[in-house]
Amino acid sequence: MKYDLILVRFGEITIKGRNRNRFETMLLTQIQMALKAMPALEYVRGYARVYIHLNGESYEKVSERLKDIFGIMTFSPVISTKHDLEAIRECALGLMQSIAPAPATFKVSVKRGWKQYPHDSLEMNHLVGAHVLRNSPGLKVDVRNPEVELKVDIQHLSAYVYCEVIKGAGGFPLGMNGKAMLLLSGGIDSPVAGWMSMRKGLKVEAVHFHSYPFTSEQAKEKVITLAKRLAYYGGKIKLHLVPFTEIQTKLAQAGQDSLIITLMRRSMLKITERLAEENGALAIVTGDSLGQVASQTLGSMNVIGRSAALPLLRPLVMMDKQDIITIAEQIDTFSTSILPFEDCCTLFVPKSPAINPNLKLVEKVEAHLGEEFERLIDEAVAGTEVLVLKEDGQETTEAQKEDAWF
Ligand code: ATP
Ligand code: MG
Repeated sequence: MKYDLILVRFGEITIKGRNRNRFETMLLTQIQMALKAMPALEYVRGYARVYIHLNGESYEKVSERLKDIFGIMTFSPVISTKHDLEAIRECALGLMQSIAPAPATFKVSVKRGWKQYPHDSLEMNHLVGAHVLRNSPGLKVDVRNPEVELKVDIQHLSAYVYCEVIKGAGGFPLGMNGKAMLLLSGGIDSPVAGWMSMRKGLKVEAVHFHSYPFTSEQAKEKVITLAKRLAYYGGKIKLHLVPFTEIQTKLAQAGQDSLIITLMRRSMLKITERLAEENGALAIVTGDSLGQVASQTLGSMNVIGRSAALPLLRPLVMMDKQDIITIAEQIDTFSTSILPFEDCCTLFVPKSPAINPNLKLVEKVEAHLGEEFERLIDEAVAGTEVLVLKEDGQETTEAQKEDAWF
């Protein structure tokens, strides 16, 4: 079928007033940016929707990209036609006949946006439906539960005919709800947590802690690959690479083996909080999932979480691993995440990490490490390398000041 345009319906219908206008304006801009490689496309805005006129561009290409843009609820490929009765009937019949395998039941729903049209919606339902039925042996009408709902929207200049409704990514336009720092390891969970945050309208900057040379160059490359994949959804991702070797070495010398993961996580949060402040982020996102490992028990989350004042967002906290993996596969991060390179934390995993660390003891150990430890944290912040990763895979080493979406 040759489609002329795509009707895109916007999500989160509960948003009202000025926020709705902001939602729609941001979403339209992001759609245009994501499709900028196809300059022939034209955009016409309606209430809670936008019509994208294809002007000869490939429907498949546009639709592939639309599926991953946050804030889109559904979209439909549409054929436009003149709005005289014969043209509408032929168009409707052509669309029905193009559906494979041929459906057994259908119904027609006509909406008359242009009230001067000579037939009202009810008449039109019959006029179009009868024509399709006459020319489609075996097809029946089922008004309650049809396999196909053939929709006709009659407007002042043309009529639009469609029957397919494709689910979009949902959520909010990227950045509509502010910015957060994402703790990005090389594992399965944190890229999923990042995607879920972006879907809810958060712009994210990724922070990765590495212990080069204990961790390999490949481990770093793996995280860069994951961040680039997130940039496909997020337009552009800033990745902060924090040197963590000295801090880890220092913590390993503290003589509290079972607390080392707790201490490491707390320093990660402290450093991330500093980076958040420098970059205007108001929350920290992690891939924690309740009970998954020792550092993700409620007791550990409590002691670790207290090292940061910013809200900690844990989108996966109540999810099962298999459901997380399903999303990782859908967003195409899974195959990278399972590459076998060592993470900085796996290097120092003690035999029996505390599942219920004692906050007082943890604070005592940190106090004992004293000013030198504070200095190491300052140095890690100062030594952080920043990469700006783009959707098309480009990298720049300079932190770009301007915060444009793409
Ligand atoms: P993931 O699959 O995301 O690595 P995980 O199940 O392996 O998670 P942990 O290794 O305990 O769990 O990490 C919990 C969370 O801590 C991660 O989801 C991530 O947000 C953060 N994190 C762990 N290691 C790092 C790291 N090296 N750099 C940045 N963040 C990290
Ligand atoms: Mg991990």
